[in-house]
Amino acid sequence: MSSKVPEEWKNEVSDVLFDSETIQNRIRELGKQLSLDYRNRKPVLLGVLTGSFVFLADLIRSMNCDLEIRFMRAVSYDGTESTGSVTIEGLEFLNIQSRDVVLVEDIVDTGLTLKWICEKLQKLQPSSLKICTFLSKKTSRRRADVPKVDYVGFECEDQFVVGYGFDCDQRLRQLDFVGIYKTS
Ligand code: 5GP
Ligand code: MG
Ligand code: MG
Repeated sequence: MSSKVPEEWKNEVSDVLFDSETIQNRIRELGKQLSLDYRNRKPVLLGVLTGSFVFLADLIRSMNCDLEIRFMRAVSYDGTESTGSVTIEGLEFLNIQSRDVVLVEDIVDTGLTLKWICEKLQKLQPSSLKICTFLSKKTSRRRADVPKVDYVGFECEDQFVVGYGFDCDQRLRQLDFVGIYKTS
């Protein structure tokens, strides 16, 4: 991608990985596909907070089928390192029994967060559960036993990314592009 890192973020972001236009074009394609696949089914799009909120907001505006939106929260990272344990909040209020659920994630890396979430969600007996992730890191770190991802925005290398919902210690989520975090 040829876009330059805006001046104000140069101390923290080394490169633009996906610029805004590239992201929006891909999301339009994903939205079209989901709208076709879920026509007349009123899916529940279940966003995993916090990272997926920007993606979900753009995705739903590229969809033209009836749908509902819910959120849950998963915390697994501290700074740029996985803490190795996942905490999930908000399941107790989710009524997804007999519903078609699309789990909307920011990124699948090892897949451990996803595996954990899917196990919890299956207990709530949705009639179907598909996974849509904005980014998928190249699978070398992927654990073998994680669920298959059904919809992927982009594949990326094993680098720590920020922007477009992705944070480093809660910062940089507001960038309209995905960048590579500068580690000093
Ligand atoms: P996993 O459990 O698949 O290893 O990691 C999942 C979670 O870790 C993601 O939902 C995301 O919140 C966080 N994560 C993984 N890679 C990155 C990254 O490159 N940048 C940021 N900001 N978060 C990441
Ligand atoms: Mg996530
Ligand atoms: Mg995070």
